[in-house]
Parts: sequence; C-alpha cells; structure tokens
Amino acid sequence: MADPKGFMTTPRQEWARRPVEERVRDWDEVYVPGALLPIISKQADRCMDCGVPFCHDACPLGNLIPEWNDLVSREDWKAASERLHATNNFPEFTGRLCPAPCEAGCVLAINQPAVTIKNVECAIADRAWEEGFTPARPPERLSGRTVAVVGSGPTGLAAAQQLTRAGHTVAVYEKDDRIGGLMRYGIPEFKMEKRHLERRIAQMLAEGTKFRASTAVGRDISAADLRARYDAVVLATGATAWRELPAPGRELHGIHQAMVYLPLSNRVCEGDLEVSPLSAAGKHVVIVGGGDTGADCLGTAVRQGAASVTQLDIYAQPGAERDEDVEPWPTYPKVYRLSAAHEEARDLRTAPAADADARLFAASTLRFTGDAEGHVRELHLVEVDARREPVPGTDRVLPADLVLLALGFNGPDQEDGLVDQLGLVLQPRGTIARDDGFATNVPGVFAAGDAARGQSLIVWAIAEGRAVAAAVDRYLMGTSQLPAPVAPGDRPMRV
Ligand SMILES: Cc1cc2nc3c(=O)[nH]c(=O)nc-3n(C[C@H](O)[C@H](O)[C@H](O)COP(=O)(O)OP(=O)(O)OC[C@H]3O[C@@H](n4cnc5c(N)ncnc54)[C@H](O)[C@@H]3O)c2cc1C
Ligand code: SF4
Repeated sequence: MADPKGFMTTPRQEWARRPVEERVRDWDEVYVPGALLPIISKQADRCMDCGVPFCHDACPLGNLIPEWNDLVSREDWKAASERLHATNNFPEFTGRLCPAPCEAGCVLAINQPAVTIKNVECAIADRAWEEGFTPARPPERLSGRTVAVVGSGPTGLAAAQQLTRAGHTVAVYEKDDRIGGLMRYGIPEFKMEKRHLERRIAQMLAEGTKFRASTAVGRDISAADLRARYDAVVLATGATAWRELPAPGRELHGIHQAMVYLPLSNRVCEGDLEVSPLSAAGKHVVIVGGGDTGADCLGTAVRQGAASVTQLDIYAQPGAERDEDVEPWPTYPKVYRLSAAHEEARDLRTAPAADADARLFAASTLRFTGDAEGHVRELHLVEVDARREPVPGTDRVLPADLVLLALGFNGPDQEDGLVDQLGLVLQPRGTIARDDGFATNVPGVFAAGDAARGQSLIVWAIAEGRAVAAAVDRYLMGTSQLPAPVAPGDRPMRV
C-alpha cells in the first residue's frame, strides 16, 4: 500500500470499453487496448491491505490479492507476477472472464465501490507475458509416472500443467479439434481473444504436456484402453448436456441450442468458416435464458447484424443494490448487471419491446408458431410471478426467426460412452460422484471441474484442476507438495 489514503482519494475507475458503435463491427475484445496500464497502479493503491482480507476468502483460488495490489501500486511487476502465478495458472483467463466474487467480498465494498481486483489481475498477467516473466517451467526430473487428462477446458489444462510441472508425463485428450473446452468454442472472441489460449498451450507444450485433439475417449479410444495405458486418469469432461424447452412448436426450424449457435460463430473467428450457417443477420432473434450463455448469444447476434434481439429471463429484474437481508456482504449478490453485450443491446436499441437493455424479465415461453414451411416465426410468452405462475392478461407475441435456448446444463454429456465403459457412479443430478480426495469409484480415476461439480465458473475450474492434480500426485507418489485450494464439497460463500 504505497498510499494509505488511496481508498479515500482515488475513485474506482475500470478498464474502459471501446465505443459500442466501433466494437460491434469487429470481434476483438471490448476493452480499449492499452487503457488499463496507465490507471492500474493508482487503482491498486485503493486496497486497504486488510488484516482479514475477505477478497482472498471469496476467491476459490485463494489469490493473494492484497499482496499483489501492494506490488502493483509500487510498480514491482515481476514480484506481482510471481505472487499471482503462485495461486493461478491462467490469470489472463480469469482477469477477463471471471465475475469476480473477490470484488463482491472486498471490505471496501461495504460502503464504497470495491477495489478493481479483476483489472489488477489482468494487468499483471498481460504485463507478465510482455516482459517474459512467464517462461515455460519444464520439470527438473521425471517421475516415470503417466497421467491421462480427459478434457481440455480450464480444469483439464490446470490439472495437466500442475502434474507436468511435478514431473509426470501427461497427455490431454480432447474430442474437439482444438484445445480449450468452453473457452474455445463457447465463450466468444469479444470476451476473450483466443490468442491468450494459444499462448498458454504453447507454454504447456514447451513444458512437456502432450495434447491429443480430435480424440473422444469412449469412442476413438476405449476407456479401458486409456486406463490400462496410464497410471492415473483425470476426468475433466465438463457439463455440457444442455437443458431442453419442452414447449409446443419446439420442433420448428430455426430453434437452436446456444451451444450449437456459439461454436459456429467461434469457428468463423478461427477461420474455419466464412459465415456461420446459423447467422443472425437480418433476423429477429429471441434468446431464452437470462444467464451468461444468453448474454454471449446476445453479443454474437448483435455483431452478426440481427434485425432485433430480445433476451428472456424467467426471474424478475433484480435491484441495483444487494439485498442485505438475503445476500449480505461478503457474498456474491444477484443484482442488476450490465454486461458489455447488454450495454451494446441497450445503446443500439436491439429490443424496442424490452424493459431494460435487451431483456424481458419474469418472462416465460408458452409456445412457438411457424410459417407454412415449418420455420419458427413467433414466440408467445407470458409474465410470471415469483412462483412462476402466469399473470393473467400479460400474454405477448415476439417476432422470432431465430430462437436460441440458453437454459443451462444438466451434467456431463454421456454420448461418448465414457461413463458406461468405466462403470462410473453418478450423482442424482448426473455429475460424476467422487470422494473427498477427488477419486471416483474406479481405482486410479479422478474427476474434477464442471463434470463433477456441475456448471460453474472458470475460477472454480482452475481451482479444481489444481486440487485434483495434488490428489493424483499423492496417489502416484504417496505424498505431494502441490497446492489444493479447494475440496470437492466446497461451495461459494453463502449465508
Ligand atoms: C457460453 C458459455 C459462456 C461462459 N462464460 C463464462 C465466463 O464468462 N466466465 C466464467 O467464469 N465461466 C463462464 N462459463 C462457464 C465456464 O466456461 C465453465 O465453468 C468451464 O469452462 C468449465 O471448465 P471444465 O474444464 O470443467 O469443462 P469444459 O470447459 O466444458 O471442458 C470440457 C472439455 O472436455 C471435452 N470432453 C468431454 N468429453 C470428452 C471425451 N469423452 N473425450 C475427450 N474430450 C472430452 C469437451 O469437448 C470439452 O472441451 C461459460 C459457459 C458457457 C457455456
Ligand atoms: S478486501 Fe479489498 S481492500 Fe481489503 S485487502 Fe482485499 S482488495 Fe484490499
């Protein structure tokens, strides 16, 4: 804390976003390049270096936030990078994508805007790459043990990096043609450019991690074969079995799952396709589902040139301030948030019929109707109360040529046969069951991330990846020095 009065003299200032009209014409990240560094040391100076730093507790990675805030305020970037990477393998991912539970838990947030922790993290991570503070760290000696990691999302990548650096020979199996999990084909380029992913993959390759893309375990290689070839297996297969909307008219053409729509758009950015076969260009788009996946569809549809875009949320519009009785500080509250995509939709007035930005709150889909060719043309909805009962007289019809379903996910996709082939025990909600040490019912097979926890966040995925690596290392070597930031039963802070 270079300035002990920083929190009283410096107002919160966030990394500026580019003007809406400019950024919706490209797929680059929404932020103004180079605008973070000039402001970030003063922002880090707002940190009070609390005796009990709740920011640290609110982060599943246990990030050493007051330490790196202090180092950034003193412009000691190298030491800041060391402290940041001590707890987080991929801070450039979380620095861009995390909803920042640390900021909701910041002590300053009790009566002032929180420290811009996420921006500080991103600034350190980017600076570390620019200055060469993050070289590949191959192990000094090999253990002679082998590990297969199934799935290359943030869980699998974090587990693989930890285990490789600990000296094990690690191969990551991925059924998609490229590495990265949901960060590759789910999350759009405007939230995180894929070059950040490529840079980490190159680092991991240089450290000795092997990648086997386009290889579905259970289909291209049997689970038994994999188990026989490796001393341990980590299942980090995610939770991508999507929820359906069993409404009349669902079978009409033009109604698609978000995770069918988003990967096609990401493939355009990767250069695989010239245009998306599911482009929103010139169409009236309705997104069913009020979460982050829905917001990603919104930003994508806006960039594709949709005629209108509306997002439906079954929940009532949350307030601007946290409800202290229900979600007191330092928990992560459900409040009205304006993501970059919502800001774009609001400024461009993509949904004239919506209550706020592009969203219609407390809206429940009744049915779809189509044209003579069997293509969807309208979505019928009704307002619902807190018990999700329809409010009489509130029926509405929206024009809809493209409907995107973003209703969340149930658990791991079981299409590849991996679960059956291994004889894995599942939880009632479809996720992979495991004990307190991340071990499944099959000896030598461990499970982590969304596949076992259910749909979560990248910060939890990285924390789980680090923790499962410690468990596997202990299984292979009898003891482990690797950190385990979370246990399988840990959950976000709640009252
Ligand atoms: C559209 C969208 C946007 C999101 N945005 C954010 C965000 O902004 N911030 C945030 O914190 N979180 C976000 N999330 C959530 C976050 O992406 C996930 O919580 C996180 O990616 C989970 O990591 P994971 O490694 O456990 O699983 P995943 O990222 O799902 O990776 C699992 C991988 O396993 C592979 N796989 C599955 N089965 C097999 C098999 N049999 N053989 C080989 N490979 C297999 C899959 O192809 C996949 O690549 C978002 C999720 C979605 C869907
Ligand atoms: S809670 Fe906020 S003010 Fe306190 S140490 Fe953490 S970031 Fe700094």
